[in-house]
Amino acid sequence: MIYTSTSCLKNPKNITKVLDEYQKAGIKQVELGSVHEYFDINELKKYDFEFLIHNYFPPPKKPFNLNLASQNKNILKKSKNLVKHAIELCGKIESPLYTFHAGFTIDPPKLGKPLPKDEFTERTIAIKTYVESIDEILDFSNSTGIKIAMEPNVVQKFNLVNGKNELCLFAEIDEIHKLFKLIKNDKLGILLDLGHTAVTSHWLNFDKDDFVEKCFKKVLAIHVSNNNGLADQHKSLDENCWHASKLKMFKHIPIILETMNLDINKIKENIKLATIKSEIKSYNNGEKN
Ligand SMILES: [Zn+2]
Repeated sequence: MIYTSTSCLKNPKNITKVLDEYQKAGIKQVELGSVHEYFDINELKKYDFEFLIHNYFPPPKKPFNLNLASQNKNILKKSKNLVKHAIELCGKIESPLYTFHAGFTIDPPKLGKPLPKDEFTERTIAIKTYVESIDEILDFSNSTGIKIAMEPNVVQKFNLVNGKNELCLFAEIDEIHKLFKLIKNDKLGILLDLGHTAVTSHWLNFDKDDFVEKCFKKVLAIHVSNNNGLADQHKSLDENCWHASKLKMFKHIPIILETMNLDINKIKENIKLATIKSEIKSYNNGEKN
């Protein structure tokens, strides 16, 4: 099934505007993404999409940057509360899956922008905090039946410190394996972002196909968008891109289109291409073929 993230559309801040446009376009499966301003969640009741929830959603009144590895007690508490609130909302809107980002050794002032490079936390300490957060979240979600998955971080050039990945946790397979060993509950899955994989594999010099293979068993959902393999550009898919070529491996789970800054017609083209490349037979996102 192809889902469309609410962050795909141009100017996505106002979520109800995005959902109205998706509804008009006949889109049926929607991932509620992390780029929106505060709104009244009761508004969601007027739509009958099949929803998934991703990361920083529902957006709180006072914005902050979610970091489940934060050493700042206030940010850590707010992050865990937001996640629990998101899981409760999954129950209410029948989202079968909640996904969130891997943590950072420093609190990011703004996602997608360079992280401050001074005074990052020692990696083992940040990992310990993240593991405690995950254990608490999985305990919380256990009785709900909602699946939980972590999205491995993207490492871009501007986040390297002297050529090394000091700031972003769980971007490489060894550290992801380590996380699965450290957590008590075996229910955590992976949200594999193919755009992240292409970029991180370039800067940290590993084989992207091998990474996908090694994650495969744990993958509960896919994020897909295109890029030049150097920066996480969230561009439109094309016929021959590596990102789209991987989709057929994952046609049994939600494939979530996560492009950015597109108009609705471009989004529909991307849904169609993702459907074709994933070899999903039934194409029911608004158009019949
Ligand atoms: Zn993503």
